Amino acid sequence: MNLVIENLSKTYPNGTQALKNVSLEIPTGMFGLLGPNGAGKSSLMRTISTLQDADTGSIMLGDIDALKEKARVRQVLGYLPQEFGVYPRMSAYQMLDHFALLKGIKNNRERKEIVKALLHQTNLYQQRNIKLSNYSGGMKQRFGIAQALLGNPKLIIVDEPTAGLDPAERNRFHNLLSEIGENIIVILSTHIVEDVSNLCRNMAIIHKGELLLTGNPRQEIEAAKGKVWKKIIDKEALQEHQSKYNVVSSHMFDGQIIVKVFDENRPDASFDASEPDLEDVYFSHIKVKEQGMQQTSEGEETPPSDSTIQLEKSE
Ligand code: ADP
Repeated sequence: MNLVIENLSKTYPNGTQALKNVSLEIPTGMFGLLGPNGAGKSSLMRTISTLQDADTGSIMLGDIDALKEKARVRQVLGYLPQEFGVYPRMSAYQMLDHFALLKGIKNNRERKEIVKALLHQTNLYQQRNIKLSNYSGGMKQRFGIAQALLGNPKLIIVDEPTAGLDPAERNRFHNLLSEIGENIIVILSTHIVEDVSNLCRNMAIIHKGELLLTGNPRQEIEAAKGKVWKKIIDKEALQEHQSKYNVVSSHMFDGQIIVKVFDENRPDASFDASEPDLEDVYFSHIKVKEQGMQQTSEGEETPPSDSTIQLEKSE
């Protein structure tokens, strides 16, 4: 089953155009929806999840018209939102049992089996009687997946799931997601490039409501080979490099800065070839988009893109 999104647009009442004619096909497996904060990821996820309407366009999940047949979508959808509210006084077991009942699993014995199986799958069975308020961030996220898996969904949406998780918890969460992604569509919405390169077979980059790229992370990295160049410079030289070269990112390293430049040819002998990664692909697309926007805003002063200055690291 595929999720097919066509020409989806959304403008909020305050005039913010959050989605601009987005078309996207998402197959079974882990799909990364990548974009900086404010790109429109949550707007897209909420629309797919039937939590808000679009102005125009269509979303088909297999034969289900997701914008019209909301009840049918909800039957096959699991959603883990950014902020996941639970009753803190309840234990994981009690809460999941409650959610299962809400999902319509009325038979007690059946519900018990399902709840137990999900707690095992998400590695929470040992801690099933602990109150959710005493769960760590990672445990809460895994509990979120357990509730999203109730009712055998065909599509799971997880919105910025690893924010605030320590590396071990993040790793455990990733393993759980990739296990799930073997059989159903899992959309991972995130601004963390590394999560997408580690986990996703397919991805899309969205920025300011527009789709910039869809593809396979490995192929996109392959296509960037021979086009990424790096150089270590002093902090003071950053601004000069940004105005002279097509700098896509800059990392602090040992008190100095490593700048990366995207260019078909080596800019000059002071640059070394750099093995591209998904972060380079991501920032080069965002840079191209922002440059295009600067050129169209006729002479308006635009501050330099902060994507070239601060890279969000997931650790
Ligand atoms: P992301 O999830 O990628 O951070 P969002 O979809 O939350 O992006 O936001 C996209 C744009 O829409 C942003 O400019 C945001 O401020 C705006 N936005 C989001 N929700 C609303 C809302 N309910 N009303 C008005 N503007 C909104």
